[in-house]
Amino acid sequence: VNPVPSDLDIAQSAVVKPILEIANKFGIDIDDLILYGTEKAKVKLSALNKSNKKPAKYIDVTAITPTPLGEGKTTTTVGLTDGIAKLGKKSACAIRQPSMGPTFGIKGGAAGGGYSQIVPMEDFNLHLTGDLHAITAAHNLCSAAIDARLHHEARWSDSFFEKRGMKKLNIEPTSVTWNRVVDINDRCLRNITIGKGGLGDGPIREAHFDITVASELMAILALTTDLKDMRERIGKIVVAMDKSKNPITTEDLGVAGAMTVLMKDGIQPNIMQTMEENLAFVHAGPFANIAHGNSSIIADKIASNYCDYLVTESGFAADIGMEKFFDIKCRQSGLVPDAVVLVATVRALKMHGGGPKVTPGRDLDSVYKEENLELLEEGCKNMSAHIKIAKKFGIPVVVGINQFHTDTENELELVKKIALESGAYGAVVTNHWAEGGDGAKDLAEVVIKACEEEHDFKFLYDLDISIKDKIEVLAKEVYGADGVEFSPEALSKISLYEKLGYDKFPICMAKSHLSLSHDPKLKNVPKGYIFPITDIRASVGAGFLYPLAGDVRTMPGLSSKPAYMNIDIDTDTGKITGLF
Ligand code: ADP
Ligand code: MG
Repeated sequence: VNPVPSDLDIAQSAVVKPILEIANKFGIDIDDLILYGTEKAKVKLSALNKSNKKPAKYIDVTAITPTPLGEGKTTTTVGLTDGIAKLGKKSACAIRQPSMGPTFGIKGGAAGGGYSQIVPMEDFNLHLTGDLHAITAAHNLCSAAIDARLHHEARWSDSFFEKRGMKKLNIEPTSVTWNRVVDINDRCLRNITIGKGGLGDGPIREAHFDITVASELMAILALTTDLKDMRERIGKIVVAMDKSKNPITTEDLGVAGAMTVLMKDGIQPNIMQTMEENLAFVHAGPFANIAHGNSSIIADKIASNYCDYLVTESGFAADIGMEKFFDIKCRQSGLVPDAVVLVATVRALKMHGGGPKVTPGRDLDSVYKEENLELLEEGCKNMSAHIKIAKKFGIPVVVGINQFHTDTENELELVKKIALESGAYGAVVTNHWAEGGDGAKDLAEVVIKACEEEHDFKFLYDLDISIKDKIEVLAKEVYGADGVEFSPEALSKISLYEKLGYDKFPICMAKSHLSLSHDPKLKNVPKGYIFPITDIRASVGAGFLYPLAGDVRTMPGLSSKPAYMNIDIDTDTGKITGLF
């Protein structure tokens, strides 16, 4: 169709099959399903042990450093899944559930795009089966537990608690790191005062809200392997320090069990379908900066039992989401990836080559709509850098050139040529956005071949080396920095974490996704700079340390013209409009 209609129009015109029919086609037993209406379901954890075949080939979709518009990772994940299916293979995808913050903020929907989408896209982008609400409730239960404890400990002695079979924790109020969460972009909640009012309404203290997907519970949901593991991880979450600087956990507060109860349904992954009736797992959506930005291990493990090719997406570019996919997610799950698909667009490459700024909501500059081989060739250095990063893990890399209608033949050829010269296993122009699975058949063919290649998957660093050394490996080998500068704050945290035994965790770097470096203004391949670590924090339950390279926002704000202004509902038909 030319021009291609909007994502929502395409999604709403798709025939959505009963999810039971899709599950049946992939061999999922009805006893392993919990249906949520007719179009979506949860898969019980009993399906984890139902493998009677060798695990699926495992493919990670990542990207070059994107423009703020996104270069089509989700779209390619869905398109490739449908493309592989077109070649007669059983193929499924597993992706993150989006936060409603960006849905009503700038980004709009995240179910893919064009003719490569997961449907029903409204459900995908909104409440789905309520996992985000469950996380919000479990998280805030813990916040309430902390303040209740502060309130009661301020008035009662040790013996009061002992009589009740408890122990006074002596929490230092200024040390509380467990914020509250809500899944809405609301900048006014970043820094607030709670506990105002009378004596019974306290204690008064400075507090903060994050967006729900930044909750450590979300990171735990994505990394956990079963209910027992989730219960243990939730109990290990450190929420504050006591007056003698010992960590206080949710277990100490006595709230870990109740938090797990609220998460008991959320741990079961959700299934939906692609527009071409292939199986799509949608489960967990951790932030890709302070968390690892990858969908759940449980979804991948179950999905792997029911298909021959499993395509998953990692957040942001290869320097962030893919690196964390390998070094954090695969290390934890034990699943071994077979191929990486690196999504590149002519648009983003031209931007890296020196093209003008790309701003959401504004018309693109003409250099992005006309042939310009000079800018493109210069910007291809960013793609080459990402190919080299992916190859460090020993996995074949296929560049998927996501075609836009303004791209010229010469431009597409140039990207292909440079990709192959830079060591990519293959480089394929792919047009699934406009054509669905048919448009991704060429990419699918090369990816299937890449999966058959001998490969020797390895992590970038060993967990046994020091925290500083791990950070240095990342800065030099992935971000291309000359070295690392640690702030005094970061250094004192490192020695504290070494003392507390947190030094064997992997590193989950929180940095800009708009540059290979820490600075979003530095495009293409920044060189000759020092990577600054301003602070470092621990997610003990999720099991990683997250150093901060510059300012990292954990509660987004809304712009002057947010996406919600377009969104409405037809009150006669119940049809949603304006959700892109
Ligand atoms: P990412 O997952 O990398 O953030 P998405 O797959 O969500 O990117 O795509 C971002 C947006 O770009 C979506 O609205 C999608 O419809 C659009 N898009 C992706 N590929 C194309 C394409 N080839 N032509 C036009 N629009 C596209
Ligand atoms: Mg995406």
